[in-house]
Amino acid sequence: MKHDGPDTIEVIPLTGLKKSLGYRVPDTMRGNIAVGSLVRVPILRRQELGIVQSLQAPGDFPSDKLKFIYGLVHPFPVLTSDLLKLAQWMQGYYAASAELVLTAMIPAAVRRGMRQKRRLFLSVDRKLEKEELENLRRRAPKQAELYEFLLHQLKPIPRTTVIKRLGVAPASCAALVAKGVVAESSMTVPRVAYDDDLSAAEHVTPGDFDLNPEQIEAATDIVKSLDAGKFRVHLLHGVTGSGKTEVYIRAVKRVLALNGGVIFLVPEVALTPQTVGRLRSQLEEASGARTVVWHSHLSEGERLDAWHALATGEAKVVVGARSGIFAPIRNLRLIIVDEEHEPAYKQEETPRYHGRDVAVYRARLCGGVCVLGSATPSLESLYNVELGKYRLNRLPRRVDGRQLPLVHVVDLKREIFSRKGLVMLSRLLVDKLQERFEAGEQSIIFLNRRGYSTSMLCPDCGHVEMCTHCSITLTYHRADQTLRCHLCGAQRGAPRRCSQCNSDKIRWRGFGTQRVEETIRKVLPGARVMRIDSDAMQKKNLFRQILGEFRLGRIDVLVGTQMIAKGLDFPNVTLVGLIDADLSLHIPDFRAAERTFQLLVQVAGRSGRGERAGEVVVQSFLPHSAPIQFARRQDFDGFNSEELKQRREYHYPPFRHLIHHLFRGKNPDKVLFYAEQWARLAESRLPETVEIRGPAPAPIEKIKDDYRFQIWYFVNNVSKIVPQLVSLRQEFKMDKAVIDVLDVDPVHLT
Ligand code: ADP
Ligand code: ZN
Ligand code: ZN
Repeated sequence: MKHDGPDTIEVIPLTGLKKSLGYRVPDTMRGNIAVGSLVRVPILRRQELGIVQSLQAPGDFPSDKLKFIYGLVHPFPVLTSDLLKLAQWMQGYYAASAELVLTAMIPAAVRRGMRQKRRLFLSVDRKLEKEELENLRRRAPKQAELYEFLLHQLKPIPRTTVIKRLGVAPASCAALVAKGVVAESSMTVPRVAYDDDLSAAEHVTPGDFDLNPEQIEAATDIVKSLDAGKFRVHLLHGVTGSGKTEVYIRAVKRVLALNGGVIFLVPEVALTPQTVGRLRSQLEEASGARTVVWHSHLSEGERLDAWHALATGEAKVVVGARSGIFAPIRNLRLIIVDEEHEPAYKQEETPRYHGRDVAVYRARLCGGVCVLGSATPSLESLYNVELGKYRLNRLPRRVDGRQLPLVHVVDLKREIFSRKGLVMLSRLLVDKLQERFEAGEQSIIFLNRRGYSTSMLCPDCGHVEMCTHCSITLTYHRADQTLRCHLCGAQRGAPRRCSQCNSDKIRWRGFGTQRVEETIRKVLPGARVMRIDSDAMQKKNLFRQILGEFRLGRIDVLVGTQMIAKGLDFPNVTLVGLIDADLSLHIPDFRAAERTFQLLVQVAGRSGRGERAGEVVVQSFLPHSAPIQFARRQDFDGFNSEELKQRREYHYPPFRHLIHHLFRGKNPDKVLFYAEQWARLAESRLPETVEIRGPAPAPIEKIKDDYRFQIWYFVNNVSKIVPQLVSLRQEFKMDKAVIDVLDVDPVHLT
């Protein structure tokens, strides 16, 4: 018998191996092998996983000398051809191994060959005659009850449900099946995330409004690009509440009409329920398309089933956080990156990719359209508009003539002067909170610092409790009376006495979201106050429950970290408070001003989105600093041109790319020595256009017992320099005790 399909294939192993290998395909498997298939192959007498890269072994090795593959993990490819090309680009650009990039692209459950869960269903196979039924009732009443229950069902019922509901023994089911009265069938039941009791509060009934002229103009322009079927990037710069989401939905509808697929990225898991709710309510009925969710807080089963729905083409739209960019979606025509300026799009472990930039590249590989949206676009994206690479669409006003909120800046220096001691909530903020509560309106309070107190100080000896593994103070978490390190996660019970001098006069300094929550409960007795931060994310779906209740008006004040500072649309929120605007101003990062400006504008954007006007209270010790003043006036162009001027002067991004090179290890002298050796080599061998700075101690000098030093490269062309760095790195003899990591286009300089 002749089998169609390739005799030999080229496989990229998902092991540390750096090159691809050739294998032979047994006759019986040829029909199912394709580029992107996941295969099991022999490597050094072990069984490993690999991805089929091409349908021909590399080199001109005689094919009968090649080994056979062991088998296919799934009968269909797990990567689309554009994902394979994307993986190659990511390796080159981010200096990451094929193994790590491919592993990031394929969910663990899929790699392990996990199958979708099947369940047994029962239905009546043969109707009993009257007499037979009578007999059964007498001899086996439970079986009769079961039979009659099934007789009245319109479709097969899960076996477990039947057993639970009727309280029958599994043996009774088996007996009926053995008699041929009841049929047992096994079916897959997709576990659909966000399709449960909580989703009612997430479903947003589409408002009956028409798009305004600016929305129509932007949507039409994007649709034109979609119809042209060519790669193009749109930057949708729309102020908060200008109706960007409606523009995205227009574009999504167009793609579904063209039978294409859509990836919709949001920067935070906490934003996915709202986006899924809005999309499902506007699309599902209209087009029958299925929208699935993709992020790291799903259960393995939910993720597997979402992945299957995408890989088989059953789902056409995926809403996800960063890793959603790797969804195996078919015929990808549109990628939306909402809040494109968000640093959360950067993955902080290898492969250290930027979700937005990967999105743009993937759209390019597919000949699709990428829409980057934001109220505060990154300077990188604005610069790309200036260079003519991206197309700019603007929504300069809030919908329905609604006003941007009034921003009050409270000077904490004066507040402290008049009140003495710790000021967490200024008088103005407390007054406004009270006003809102009495009027039945909602407020959101932000502080980008979780926990209760940020440090523990002994007034007698001056000792401050630090993490023993990292160079930062420990944060006090009151709920479980622990001290925790927010860098390495180490935790221990909170002491009652100073560990150095045994004094019992311990003082807690600084405050986090837990303490803010507690204080607001005190100043607003009777108000319903809830908190969302990453501590609250630990419990599955708790964030959905809280956001759902907030939407239904069952919560008056929501306290949270940056995690909920952007994108959320709650029309009844009329007050937003930013407890400490200076947190982002003081980070040792050339982007400090940009981050502060973005945070303020985004935070303010949560207020006054409905019929009623909104207000914002910003607390700061530096009320006159440029980013705060520009944000107060909502002056985007002013801030951007000022900031770009400075970046240009210092040749900082976006005018050049930055590559961060971290050296770490237990012995600081050794780490520094190797970093210096390396810097010398790099100076002598990299092109002169590359500016090298360092080595210098990293801003956080120690994490998890590792001392850290860093080198910076300022480069014009990443794709040219990274391969040179990588090959130089192979030449360099690094001590085993020193680890170095390259981070291309980093977003946090820690
Ligand atoms: P953005 O994403 O720009 O912050 P949204 O798309 O969330 O804004 O829109 C803000 C609110 O305004 C939403 O509740 C949305 O339903 C509503 N909205 C959007 N477009 C219009 C319009 N043309 N007329 C009236 N309301 C609108
Ligand atoms: Zn002490
Ligand atoms: Zn630590």
